[in-house]
Amino acid sequence: MKILVIGSGGREHALVWKLAQSPHVTQMWCAPGNAGIAQERLAKNGAAVECVNIGAEDLAKLLEFAQEKKADFTVVGPDNPLALGIVNLFQNYGLKIWGVNRKAAQFEASKVFSQKFMEKYGIPTAAAGTFSDVVAAKKFCATLGGKCVVKADGLALGKGVLICMNQAEAEKAVDEIMVSKAFGVAGANVVVQEFLEGVEVSLHALCDGTTAKIFPTSQDHKRALDGDLGLNTGGMGTYSPTPFLTEAQLAETARAVLEPFMRGCVAEGIDYRGLLYPGVMLTQNGPKILEFNARFGDPETQVYLTRLENDLVELLDASASGTLAKHELKWKPEASVCVIMASGGYPGNYPKGKVITGLEAADKLPGTKVFHAGTALKDGQIVTNGGRVLGVTALGKDLKKAQAAAYAAVECIRFEGAHFRRDIAAKAF
Ligand code: AMP
Repeated sequence: MKILVIGSGGREHALVWKLAQSPHVTQMWCAPGNAGIAQERLAKNGAAVECVNIGAEDLAKLLEFAQEKKADFTVVGPDNPLALGIVNLFQNYGLKIWGVNRKAAQFEASKVFSQKFMEKYGIPTAAAGTFSDVVAAKKFCATLGGKCVVKADGLALGKGVLICMNQAEAEKAVDEIMVSKAFGVAGANVVVQEFLEGVEVSLHALCDGTTAKIFPTSQDHKRALDGDLGLNTGGMGTYSPTPFLTEAQLAETARAVLEPFMRGCVAEGIDYRGLLYPGVMLTQNGPKILEFNARFGDPETQVYLTRLENDLVELLDASASGTLAKHELKWKPEASVCVIMASGGYPGNYPKGKVITGLEAADKLPGTKVFHAGTALKDGQIVTNGGRVLGVTALGKDLKKAQAAAYAAVECIRFEGAHFRRDIAAKAF
């Protein structure tokens, strides 16, 4: 089987790494990939994974490439090509592809759509309103005492969510999004949610249109600095499992969310095949969904795929084909921890091209895998090429051991300005 993977981050390196272990795969490309992805080899025949210089949003070129190379299966990592309809496009040309179609991608591309869907189908969520009118939005904020979260409707590079503690802040947030258009057209409409307190966890479920299979829990660390201080980022580290939901509570949450979700999709004519990643707040009144993402989380993918025992090609194929009910997801009992090493300055401005050393030594440590997020090959050396540079991931008998192993690997790696959090998974203890 010849597989094309689309994307270039830590999520895509983890996908490539896991897919490459499948005996079904004889050839693999990644567009555009990164320096770590280019080092991967297929288990079946030792062939190198080939990185192809086509951007993840260049749908026409990706289609041309997949046709020319006769790719049997394409796997899409990031949200943008999904929202642009890459799945519909490939399917129109008779190509097999994994990921959500354009209609299903709305769950991530429109927070208004998601909020209305959750309310219509009884999925537990925050008390909320959706607005296209500034005055009405502000009035609703006032009914929440100003303690609320104002969210731009559309894709805003993860930045269109403003947390407000009083009415003045809430009115400023509404103005910023709807009047000053800080996030462009993404802010033509807003969702205002009550501010929820609790522990936040990530859920993932693989879906095939009718069946949804829940993953174990994981937790991301969004803020740049230890103790959840500093700016919001794309994620500074993850671990799985979390101690915040028992197996029984996870099963109950899955039932309360996935059942109405899949039922609602069928009722609305949405063929949801791909990954569903709800952000969840565990509140005193039970779990509440904050938002839906329609793809694997990054860096959640790194901890999930190091724990997954199944053949990922078979699972994604079943998700695309509607035969997931026949599969049982199997997870290693070990815990997994991923520590992101970022460029100095991230999530603000940061330099690129810093030489990275110690990668081989880190990768040789037992149970350890260094996933590349923003790296490139320059004059025979691996250099930094993004904000998040590496996802240093390790398995351990328990979370403490996995955490120690991940940080031991981090200690092997050097690049100028390297910045990472020292408290990934600490909340679990
Ligand atoms: P979202 O993109 O909607 O998940 O929001 C980004 C982040 O904002 C989440 O990961 C939460 O930390 C926070 N957040 C979103 N909605 C709420 C809410 N209703 N209450 C408290 N925090 C929230």
